[in-house]
Amino acid sequence: MKTIGLIGGMSWESTAEYYRIINESVRERLGGSHSAKIAMYSVEFEEVRELHRTGKWDEATDFMIDAAKRVERAGADFVLICTNTMHKMADDVAANISIPLLHIVDVTAAKIAATNLKKIGLLGSIFTMEEDFYKERLRKRYDLEIIVPDKIDRKIIDTIIFDELCLGEIKDSSRERLKLIIDKLVNDSAGGIILGCTELPLLIKQTDCKIPLFDTTRIHAEAAVDLALEG
Ligand code: GLU
Repeated sequence: MKTIGLIGGMSWESTAEYYRIINESVRERLGGSHSAKIAMYSVEFEEVRELHRTGKWDEATDFMIDAAKRVERAGADFVLICTNTMHKMADDVAANISIPLLHIVDVTAAKIAATNLKKIGLLGSIFTMEEDFYKERLRKRYDLEIIVPDKIDRKIIDTIIFDELCLGEIKDSSRERLKLIIDKLVNDSAGGIILGCTELPLLIKQTDCKIPLFDTTRIHAEAAVDLALEG
């Protein structure tokens, strides 16, 4: 079994899900007392939020490279960045370590490719929904049509993520707002929705939605188990 490297803490509410899903998945696949080999570095999230707020992306890149090196030194065979947003610097991180990086967009696109869906709605932080690093990879490498909510709805989702979910608050009222936003994307003919923030699956489940949801936390965590257990 390979050792899975996790860069976590962004936020720890979602990293706890990665830890649980990875270990449950190894137990389901191997049975008995089996569990995953994990090397994790969990960051101080307020430091990351400050870099977001001030737009210091060069510093954020150095911060993420440092985190990845710590995980590599701890013995990981490959590494996951346990957040969609911080994949903004995934290429720089990958270039500065000698173990592979399992990219959240690539494993999510592989799940979408297993369906016939081509037009997909993307929900996530403002950075993930508005900047190119995430959408362009889906468009260019995987030929998907990606749509995002309008500006007001993007702000609502970002606030739900950072002011509620990252702080451990799960509110029914926010779930209802998110469902209305998803309905608008469905009306705009989205065939599926990427939950492109690792906290969103804490709030909304497949049973809340009539089109397929692509839960990036679960997809990423299960892909890590596939890689850890492959021959
Ligand atoms: N976990 C969130 C994501 O998947 C946001 C936290 C962050 O900014 O890294 O994008």
